[in-house]
Amino acid sequence: MENLVDIIIVGAGPAGLSAAVNALARGKTVRIFSNRENYLSKAERVDNHLGFYNISGKELMDKFKEHAEAMNIKIEEGKVVNILPMGNSFMVNINGEIAQSKKVILTMGISNVKELSGESKLLGSGVSYCATCDGMLYRGKDVVVWDQSNDAWEEANFLQGIGVNVTFVSKKPAPENLNNINFVKGTITEIIGSNSVEAVNLGNEEINCNAVFLLRDAIAPTSLIEGLKLNGNFIDVNKNMETNIEGVYAAGDITGRPLQLSKAVSEGLIAAQHAALQIDKKER
Ligand SMILES: Cc1cc2nc3c(=O)[nH]c(=O)nc-3n(C[C@H](O)[C@H](O)[C@H](O)COP(=O)(O)OP(=O)(O)OC[C@H]3O[C@@H](n4cnc5c(N)ncnc54)[C@H](O)[C@@H]3O)c2cc1C
Repeated sequence: MENLVDIIIVGAGPAGLSAAVNALARGKTVRIFSNRENYLSKAERVDNHLGFYNISGKELMDKFKEHAEAMNIKIEEGKVVNILPMGNSFMVNINGEIAQSKKVILTMGISNVKELSGESKLLGSGVSYCATCDGMLYRGKDVVVWDQSNDAWEEANFLQGIGVNVTFVSKKPAPENLNNINFVKGTITEIIGSNSVEAVNLGNEEINCNAVFLLRDAIAPTSLIEGLKLNGNFIDVNKNMETNIEGVYAAGDITGRPLQLSKAVSEGLIAAQHAALQIDKKER
C-alpha cells in the first residue's frame, strides 16, 4: 500500500512525542500530527518530572520537541478529523489529507468537547468537522459554520468561495476578515433533522440549513473513530494502552487521571512499544 506507515500518532504533547520517540527506537516508521500548542506549555513551573526540577512548561516542551527533532521526527501541523479502520490498516483524515498506517495512537489530551444534541446522530449526514473534506458536497446549498476555533472564519471564506451559501454563527463579534458572509451572533444549542441536518437551534431562533460545520480545535474521541469505548469522559484502555478497537491505542491525559506529565510520557512509551511488538509479530 502506498504511503503506509507503521504508526500514526494523533497529538504531539508529551504522550505523543514519547510514543513517537519510542516507536522510532523500535525501528518503526511514524507520522505525528498536532493542531495547536499543548497544555504543558502553559505551565508556569514544573517540579515533578524527574530530572527537570524547577523548569517552565514551555522550556520542558521545547526540550521534548528538540529530542524528537534530533531523531528526525517531524511534527506535522494538522487536525485529525476522522479515523477509519480498514481491516489491517487505518485511513486517517487530516483535514482532508488522507494518511495510512498499521496502528494508531491517540494522544489528544483531555477532551472537553461537549457534543451537541443531534451531533453524533447526524455526523456524516450534514454534520461535518472539516470544510476541505465535505465543502464540495454543499455547493449551492445553505450551511452554517459555527465559530469555535481561531481559523473558523478562514474555513467559512473557503466554503463561500467554492459556492456554498454560508451563515457564520459566533458568540463573538463578526471577524474582520470574514468575506461577504451572513453573520449571526449566538450559540448553537441543538442540531435538528431526522435523516439529515435541517436546521440549527440557537435558543431564541432556528436557522434552516443543509449542513453545519463544527470547526472546533478538538474533536470528541468518539466522533473521531466510531465505536470507541469510553470510561466516563476518558478513553478506556487496558494495561498495554489498547482501546477496544484492535490496532488503536490511547495514551496520556486522554486515558484519565492523574493528568500529569510523567504518566503521559510513560503511557506513550507503553503504547508505542506494544504497537511495535504487534507489528513485528505479524510480519515475522
Ligand atoms: C497550567 C498547567 C500546569 C500544569 N502543570 C503540570 C505540572 O507541574 N506537572 C505535571 O506533571 N503536569 C502538569 N500539567 C499537566 C500536563 O500538562 C498534562 O498532563 C500533559 O500535557 C498531558 O500530555 P498529553 O500528551 O496527554 O496531552 P496534551 O499535552 O494535552 O497534548 C495533546 C495534543 O494533541 C493535540 N490534538 C488534540 N486533538 C487533536 C486532533 N484532532 N488532531 C491533531 N492534534 C490534536 C493538541 O493540540 C495537543 O497539542 C499542567 C497542565 C496545565 C494546563
